[in-house]
Amino acid sequence: MDIQYIMAILSGKLTAFFMKAFRRGGTALPGLVAETIDKNVLKKISPHFKRGIILITGTNGKTTTANILANILRQKGWSLLRNSAGSNLKRGIISTILKSINLKGEFKNKIDFGIFECDEAALIEIALSLNPQIILFNNLFRDQLDRYGEVETVRKKWINLIQNLKTDTKIILNADDPGVKSLGDYVQDKKNLFYFGLCSSINQEHLKDNTTYCITDFERCPICGKELVYDERYFSHLGNYFCKNCSFKKPSLDVCVKNIYCIPFFIFYIVRNTFKILAKNKLIKISYSFVFKP
Ligand SMILES: [Zn+2]
Repeated sequence: MDIQYIMAILSGKLTAFFMKAFRRGGTALPGLVAETIDKNVLKKISPHFKRGIILITGTNGKTTTANILANILRQKGWSLLRNSAGSNLKRGIISTILKSINLKGEFKNKIDFGIFECDEAALIEIALSLNPQIILFNNLFRDQLDRYGEVETVRKKWINLIQNLKTDTKIILNADDPGVKSLGDYVQDKKNLFYFGLCSSINQEHLKDNTTYCITDFERCPICGKELVYDERYFSHLGNYFCKNCSFKKPSLDVCVKNIYCIPFFIFYIVRNTFKILAKNKLIKISYSFVFKP
């Protein structure tokens, strides 16, 4: 019996109970208390997820991606545990899990997958504790400079994480973002590496409204530092890019968005490789195709 682990869970649960009793908000404190008592509490919980853990990180789109993924997995009949958008630090994720486990540290009901949105900087510690099956990197923008410094600092942390992960973790990268794409060079076993993005043949009618050229976070090649050239820009530094100086370029895609349409009403569904989402108050229909690796 792991007394330290059980004490951590008990203390975290008591903290949550008293916070609820005194109507105190906040999602982090129970997790913080549990982690203070047993710093490996997250690591010890991770084997109880029956099929595995999926982490989603990046500056934008974490919640939308988690929603889409959760819908796909629920349609398959699998049970999920998710964190809310405001609890994407390590202690917030521990707090989320505490609600679903008993005092022995086991889930009260079977949980197939954990889907956790992770803050860009907090990802490293979370991933090294949870040993996820999959990490998805959405994009990297300059909107949280006050907390993290340059985007390049975050990218270097992500590289460091990928180099220190278990080799069977699948890494899914947004190929349209050069900074995110560059992480693929550090994935040791390339069969665990997947790129998604927009097909070059995509209908761009609904991308034009969003196209901005004002701030670009990766104008320069992450490999050699020379300026990147764009055949197409979808949004800010996201697009179809290449470096004139070295071989760095948008890679071939494993999952490719082929069409984006606006539709007259909103229903979320996924049927035959098509789903609909609400984005920036526009109703958008997206179809995609898979290119399976041999
Ligand atoms: Zn280059």
